[in-house]
Amino acid sequence: MFYLESFHVKTTKEEILDITRNVGEIVSKSGAKNGLAVVYTPHTTASVIINENEKGLVEDIRETLAKIVPRSAGYKHDRIDNNAHSHIKAVIVGNSRVIPLFDKKLALGTWEHIFLTDFDPPRTRTVNVLIFGEL
Ligand code: ZN
Repeated sequence: MFYLESFHVKTTKEEILDITRNVGEIVSKSGAKNGLAVVYTPHTTASVIINENEKGLVEDIRETLAKIVPRSAGYKHDRIDNNAHSHIKAVIVGNSRVIPLFDKKLALGTWEHIFLTDFDPPRTRTVNVLIFGEL
């Protein structure tokens, strides 16, 4: 079977938001027993990551990305809309993740959570969850 559902997230600042519960609810609704969930955000300045939801670590990830890709570095795209750093961070991190489904649940590790990262707020971001599985 194939199941697709989307949800939207409003952001106010450059942030990393835990969306594990939203994705888990869609997995439950799909009825899939075993399979794969693709979590995909269709934006050029946002991404999807999986990691531990520890406040300090989430800040470390955000701050490290900001150091790797500084806001002003003479980017050509900044002549158009001044957000090249947001695009470059999204390229480095990636806008989708694939998660196995076992026994009607996301097969995440003990400390793993799914996050949407917004590098160019404020925005309303769409997250698509595509589920391929057996009922
Ligand atoms: Zn742009």
